[in-house]
Amino acid sequence: MTLRSPIFRKLLWSAFLLIAATLVVLDFYLTRYMAQRQRENVEQRLAAQARLLTYEAAGVPRPILEPWARDAGARAETRVTVIDPAGMVLADSQHDPETMENHASRPEIQAAHRGGQGAAIRHSATLGRDLCYLAMTFAYDGKPGHILRLAVPLEDVDAAIAAVRWRILGASLAAALVALIVAYFFSRSMTRRISRLRAFAEGLVDARISGGLVADAEDELGALARSLDRMATQLRELVDRLSLESARREAILASMVEGVLAVDNELRVTFCNQSFARVVGVSGEIPQRLPLLELVRDPELLDMLTHVLVSGQSIKRRLELASAVGRTFEVQAAPLSASSHRGAIAILYDITDLERLERVRKDFVANVSHELRTPLTAIRGYAETLLEGALEDQENNRRFLEIIKAHAIRLNNIASDLLILSELESGKPPAEPERVSVRGALETAFHTVESEAKLRGVAVHGDKLEDAEVTGDKVRLEQALINLLDNAVKFNRPGGEVHVDVVRVGDDQVRIAVTDSGIGIPSEDLSRIFERFYRVDKARSREMGGTGLGLSIVKHVVERMGGSVTAESQLGRGSTFTVLLPRA
Ligand code: ADP
Repeated sequence: MTLRSPIFRKLLWSAFLLIAATLVVLDFYLTRYMAQRQRENVEQRLAAQARLLTYEAAGVPRPILEPWARDAGARAETRVTVIDPAGMVLADSQHDPETMENHASRPEIQAAHRGGQGAAIRHSATLGRDLCYLAMTFAYDGKPGHILRLAVPLEDVDAAIAAVRWRILGASLAAALVALIVAYFFSRSMTRRISRLRAFAEGLVDARISGGLVADAEDELGALARSLDRMATQLRELVDRLSLESARREAILASMVEGVLAVDNELRVTFCNQSFARVVGVSGEIPQRLPLLELVRDPELLDMLTHVLVSGQSIKRRLELASAVGRTFEVQAAPLSASSHRGAIAILYDITDLERLERVRKDFVANVSHELRTPLTAIRGYAETLLEGALEDQENNRRFLEIIKAHAIRLNNIASDLLILSELESGKPPAEPERVSVRGALETAFHTVESEAKLRGVAVHGDKLEDAEVTGDKVRLEQALINLLDNAVKFNRPGGEVHVDVVRVGDDQVRIAVTDSGIGIPSEDLSRIFERFYRVDKARSREMGGTGLGLSIVKHVVERMGGSVTAESQLGRGSTFTVLLPRA
């Protein structure tokens, strides 16, 4: 592991390179130094021998000078040459002086003439090696200026150097071995520390960071570890902050009533909240990057998002989705960024209730107009008839005026019922909620319908009237009870009966039941009689001066007091309206 690590190899190579470079430089200087030293040694040795031999030579007679030279050469293991001041060779230990040329021009001779002693190194072609020459002046036969020259071949410098070279190589190998060991341990420690750093850094990327990184040394890696550690802390804070932020956003989006859907630029789902999942009829987890086509089948929604991705423009449309039958959505689709490369987001507002309310409002306006038109047309018609001469018609004019009055009353009734309804629907709390006695309110209602009941021959009975108090607006409660009693009288038969019961239910409720023996209500209409302007038999209701708003008012009043109203009926047998109110 360590042996194959690049750090180890680099370290080793640098060490080897350094050792090799040292070796080359060392070799170069050593060779030169050794050669120099050897030359100096040889010169010194020759100079010492020459000094001795000049003493000897000075006294050797001329005729035996040659044998002496040979003998001296053998003793000193050198070549001995004696030269006269003119450069003529007088004797030589290895050659015949006769055959030898004039030596005056040889550098060592010239140097000796100048300074008493001279040396030179020359290559000898005959011997094929370098020779060292040393010349020394001396007085021969009393005549100065003679020269004694010694010459020896220089030993093979390379041979001398080779031995040293082997030593250097040995030392270098030892150094290389040490370098190898040092590199091994150094790189092992480095590799370990770097691996630790790498693991830590990778942990940062995967956000698996836990705990800090211990900087184990004061070197560059230690500094790197410290800054990584600092960075990790900051990164952790950043990640924490971001995840908190995104959790908050997700919570907001998840809790939104509106359906939210985000897609990437390949129309894959990147986010969708519960509301959206409900709308498209999916329960459970929606996998990340699910192609939108697999989640939504509606071509219109797909088309909207594709359009947004292509054009980069926001659009808004009203859609009905196949997965949410009967519901209408207003869909707002917008690119996630100006370039639209990052995808698009769609927000689905469920506007079904809004649409229904709008429809109810329109219907209401239409109903009101319709309801007003009938009495207004009648009033106008009869007024015109009167003006056109019927005023003089003694038989009819009174009747016509009665009709006009009846329609005027109807108009008045509609107007006042509408006023009451609008006030109830405005949601304003009653001016001053008060404690109201149910029995008191009922008595007022009895009085109000008394004459009408008498007129129609209907008997109204208060059977069991337990008293109870409720909280609310007294006038409105009376109004509601009057409406119920009035209906029970109006939609009755001559000689019919109306029974009213007030019973306390449990500790906190009171039930008021109004039962009549009248015409009853068909079961299919029962659920709708509390709607505004809804009447089972329009002609009969109108004839009775009804507005179709009475039961709506009852429902509103009761519900505002925290109670409820229900109706049961048997066609032709009678109806029971039951009001349940919380007690004060
Ligand atoms: P109206 O002004 O016509 O009485 P309401 O809102 O009070 O309007 O009643 C709505 C309709 O419910 C009436 O037109 C009538 O058809 C029916 N209805 C109400 N009360 C009774 C009842 N006690 N018996 C039979 N039908 C009733």
